[in-house]
Formats: sequence, C-alpha cells, structure tokens
Amino acid sequence: MNKQTILSIEDEKNIGNYIETILISNGYKALKAMNGMSGLSMCTSHHPDLILLDLGLPDIDGMEVLDRIRGFSNVPIIVISARTQEKEKVEALDRGADDYITKPFGSEELLARIRTALRHSNQVRSSVGVEKRYSCEDLIIDFDKRLVTLAGEDIHLTQIEYKLVSLLAKNAGKVLTYDYILKEIWGPYADMDNQILRVNMANIRRKIEKNPAEPHYIYTEIGVGYRMKEN
Ligand code: CA
Repeated sequence: MNKQTILSIEDEKNIGNYIETILISNGYKALKAMNGMSGLSMCTSHHPDLILLDLGLPDIDGMEVLDRIRGFSNVPIIVISARTQEKEKVEALDRGADDYITKPFGSEELLARIRTALRHSNQVRSSVGVEKRYSCEDLIIDFDKRLVTLAGEDIHLTQIEYKLVSLLAKNAGKVLTYDYILKEIWGPYADMDNQILRVNMANIRRKIEKNPAEPHYIYTEIGVGYRMKEN
C-alpha cells in the first residue's frame, strides 16, 4: 500500500519535529516546510495527500497560504493555530480549511483529525462513497429511510432537526461552522442567526442524548460550530 504523504507547513522547529515524529511512527510519509513560500512550492511539486498548516508563518500569513492552495487544489488542509481566537478558526474553515487543531495538541488528537480529513476527501473523490447510514454506539441514522433510532427505539425529529442531524452525521468527526450549517439547512439567502441553531440543537439533544448538558454524540465547538462523534 502506498504511504500517504503529509506536508506540514510550520516554522517552529520543535513543533515541526514533533509532528514529523508522530507522522512517521504512524506510517505516513512526512514532508516539512518551514515557511509559507516553501510550503506552497512543496505542495505543487509533491502533491501531498494532506496539509497541516500553521497560521502564524514568518513570510506570508497562513490564511494567504490557505487561499493560494485552494486556488489550485482541494487537498485536505488542517489548520494548526496557536492562537485560540474563535474568529480565526471560523475564518480558516470558511476559507476552505477542512479542520483545525489548537496548540498544544496530543498525538492522538492530531492522528484522529488526519484520519477524518483523509476519509472525507476519499469519499468526495470516489463519489460512490456517500454513506447510507450513520452508526455510532446506540445511535443509528438511516439516510435512505430518514430514520433515526437510539438503542432500537425510533426517535421522532422534526424535518429541520433531521436535516441538522443528518448533515452533521454525514460529516462525522468534522467541525461544521454555524454559518455553513445555516446555509446548508436554510439556504444561502435565509436571514437566520445562530439562535435558531441553538434552539434546534437543544431539542435534538433532549431526544438523543442521555444527558443533554454533557452531549455524547454532538459536541459544541464553542464560538465555531458543531462536531458529531465519529463511529
Ligand atoms: Ca508559527
């Protein structure tokens, strides 16, 4: 099996080495770039399967690197940010990043994000990969039948609630921003705010979560959006 190649664009040597070690010991081929320009050129010359992109780079802003890569490639990009500002994460996601991870992060978290992003990009490429079912522990969603069951019991959702849950389930493991969700559910011109999402989410959680205050299936990424548990 071909090793998947992951390019990390990161100027901090320690973090770059840390990432490289994690990647290599988990069977990936690791490429390193220390600044934005060499990252861009390695991206065009090596066609990596995934990119880890630090936003704070010495030469050009990571956001600019993201824009330029998106100008010619759909390669999955996970943004790595030391800055914890939610605005920045949301902006990166809305500009086409697939996910983000905040420093400091552990190897398990990094590897999980990588697996999710690679899985989603393979699904998009194969086009047959549209899953017919989400299944995670007690929660099963049958997309053909539009049926949601929890431990074998039918869960009755409104149409909007179902759309929301199935959108998140089809993107399980991936964070979806509030804006993205609003546009997907209510259309690009709908004048909606996050409040309607919060209300619907509260109703969904009452129906599918054992303890809605500590959700197990759908996590809130504060200030950013929601992420559904991957099976
Ligand atoms: Ca940096």
